[in-house]
Amino acid sequence: MQRYMTLLKEHNIKITPQRLAIVKLMDEQGHISVRDIFERIKENFPSLSLATVYKNINAMIESDFIKELKIVGLDNKYELIKEKHSHLVCQECGDIEDIFIDTTSLTKSVSKESGFKVADTTVQFFGTCKKCAA
Ligand SMILES: [Zn+2]
Ligand SMILES: [Zn+2]
Repeated sequence: MQRYMTLLKEHNIKITPQRLAIVKLMDEQGHISVRDIFERIKENFPSLSLATVYKNINAMIESDFIKELKIVGLDNKYELIKEKHSHLVCQECGDIEDIFIDTTSLTKSVSKESGFKVADTTVQFFGTCKKCAA
């Protein structure tokens, strides 16, 4: 838990037991929806509401500590901000994996083709994960 406390402190986020639980879960799961967070931690916080989870999530987004991940057809997921990466989305089980690939050449060909000035790139690959393919 100490690691999570340090992380929150570094981002000037007020430490509460709920926030610690959210951050720990997010770190373990990688990408998680608000509803899943709520389902997983509500036993430990009987007075917790879905609205409170949203409030905590929004506060952590504003502090640039976590970010929202929008994936077509799935609930929005949230993840801790880490090195820039793309995502592999399994269409069978909905699992999301990080993949650290260089998107520079992709960005270059897009700019060359369209004259569009690319400021940011996020790539999502849809398909079947190793577990589902087995
Ligand atoms: Zn899968
Ligand atoms: Zn990710």
